[in-house]
Amino acid sequence: MKTYDYVVVGSGLFGAVFAQQAREHGRSVLVIERRNHIGGNCYSYDYQDTNINVHAYGTHIFHTSDTATWKYVQRFTEFNAYRHRVLTTYRGKVYSMPINLGTVNAFYGKNLRPWELASFLEQGRSAIASPKNLEEKAISLVGRDLYDAFIRGYTKKQWGCDPRKLPANIITRLPVRSSYHDAYFDDVYQGIPVGGYTPMFERMLEGVDVELGADFFSDRERWQRMARRKVVYSGPLDRYFDYTHGRLSWRSVRFELKRVDVEDYQGTSVMNYADEDVPYTRVHEPKHLHPERRFAPESTVVIREYSLIDNDEPYYPVNFESDQRMLAAYQELASREPHTIFGGRLARYRYYDMHQVVASARKAARDELVGEPAPRREGEGAV
Ligand code: FAD
Ligand code: UDP
Repeated sequence: MKTYDYVVVGSGLFGAVFAQQAREHGRSVLVIERRNHIGGNCYSYDYQDTNINVHAYGTHIFHTSDTATWKYVQRFTEFNAYRHRVLTTYRGKVYSMPINLGTVNAFYGKNLRPWELASFLEQGRSAIASPKNLEEKAISLVGRDLYDAFIRGYTKKQWGCDPRKLPANIITRLPVRSSYHDAYFDDVYQGIPVGGYTPMFERMLEGVDVELGADFFSDRERWQRMARRKVVYSGPLDRYFDYTHGRLSWRSVRFELKRVDVEDYQGTSVMNYADEDVPYTRVHEPKHLHPERRFAPESTVVIREYSLIDNDEPYYPVNFESDQRMLAAYQELASREPHTIFGGRLARYRYYDMHQVVASARKAARDELVGEPAPRREGEGAV
């Protein structure tokens, strides 16, 4: 049996960055991946003959203000100059997200100035001293009307539950702006890899053995024996421990893709749908993510996103209060596994964006590779 210093479970961003860093330090690495492609949820591909790069698991925009992370990812790909803007449709009218001066003025038919916004919103806000859940937090930020229009229905669809059951911090991902600035992210560095995400992963994984269609749990003991030093696990945390403490709550996503015979279907890359009775949460049109590419005018690709529960394909950690207790119990079990490194969105059960995953994988690699020598397993030779 061939052995490696590290066996990395999952070829998403956490696994790929850790593997790349380990290779750079002269360690041997095997990545095993359950799916039939690398890249985790960032995986993208060119759709048929269209030159349109489709993000198979939803539109992914790389954004960060951390120069070190930005420099690191640029080693593996060139990024285009795309800046993300999101629109939302509510009762047949289109508004800009996140909520900004333009959204408020369009919604109320006003012409408020930046300095007038705070006191205007104040009138509709409830005085909630310490908001305990997503609904209270949102109302304390934008008031009941805007919450009801743009947040309540969308959030209910996305998370499959009443927003009063959700943690407040989900909504603090979105800023509320008193200007017309309508970029979705405030970060200094943003873009999409010009060739799509998959070539970026291919470059990261150069010199690394990769086995696709390989599920860690199909032969766990064998993969563990193949790892001379450690297993690096980026799958779901509860699954690793056979759900001993129960199942953490996850949300999943389903996509419906169609090719449409028009040059431009919706005029933008992502259109959210705020109404509760529209079954999907958003519609993606990936053509708009690459202003630097040329496309044939006769067609475009459109993808509807639906949210659902699917424990076999977990995407989003939900973080109900009961999950927090369960998570602490799993973290305690994880701390007693000296030969496994847990990382990424699924193994940490954290709502990480890509730049956060890159930073945490680099930190994990630094701690492992340039810190104290790794604990040796019995019979392991010098490295
Ligand atoms: P993943 O990408 O999930 O990779 C984990 C990998 O492990 C998967 O390939 C999985 O198949 C594999 N695996 C799991 N279990 C096993 C097993 N038992 N055996 C073998 N392999 C296994 N972030 C941004 O910064 N910008 C965005 O615009 C953005 N948009 C998003 C949109 C959506 C719809 C979603 C769901 C996420 C979005 N994200 C975005 C977040 C981004 O996808 C994550 O931060 C990142 O992909 C997480 O990387 P990861 O390696 O932790 O996990
Ligand atoms: N959200 C909303 N309306 C929108 C967009 C977002 O209510 O039009 C809320 C929703 O609860 C969502 C959260 O804000 O889960 C964070 O949005 P984000 O776009 O960051 O979600 P993601 O890209 O991770 O799906």
